[in-house]
Amino acid sequence: MYRSETLRRFFVKLHRARSLHFDFRLEHAGVLKSWVLPDGLCWDPVESRRTIAVPDHQVRYGSVERVIPVGQYGAGPMLLWDYGTWLPCHDVDQGLRDGHLMFHLQGSRLNGLWLLERTPVRGGVRGKNWRLKKEPDAEAWTVSNRNIFAEMPTSVLTGRTLDEVAAAPRRVVSLRSNGSHRNQRLLPFV
Ligand code: MN
Repeated sequence: MYRSETLRRFFVKLHRARSLHFDFRLEHAGVLKSWVLPDGLCWDPVESRRTIAVPDHQVRYGSVERVIPVGQYGAGPMLLWDYGTWLPCHDVDQGLRDGHLMFHLQGSRLNGLWLLERTPVRGGVRGKNWRLKKEPDAEAWTVSNRNIFAEMPTSVLTGRTLDEVAAAPRRVVSLRSNGSHRNQRLLPFV
């Protein structure tokens, strides 16, 4: 297995802007490689979910939970839905170039082996469309029609729902500011 030299963080936000979606972020080379998951997440290895690559984000905003004000891009409440560490199975730059990135996640909700695969496009142009897929392992769930948004609507940081985040538009929380979080000692960053 490819060995990463540093601990790499991952963050998943649940964000209600024009539509409800997840923001999926993997720390790499000083930034957060970022994707949007408009159709949610699926733990079933026989399925995959549409995943759209978006520009890199700054690491320091990775865990921030707040309301994005009206008038700004992505206006609406966002909460920290999961975070932890990720471990690539191979060279990340190569994987991003090739459109095939396999990795382990160790978070509160997302664990085990996952695959990001870019959807091929004609003419050799690298598109923005990927698929996120759970690889078979002990963390996978078999065929399900479970509604993740309904089952797991809360922040792993504060326990709040999106409605509760929206009701406190001036409150900005992050892993750094929330010293009481149970994983703080394990993950003393951001
Ligand atoms: Mn978003």
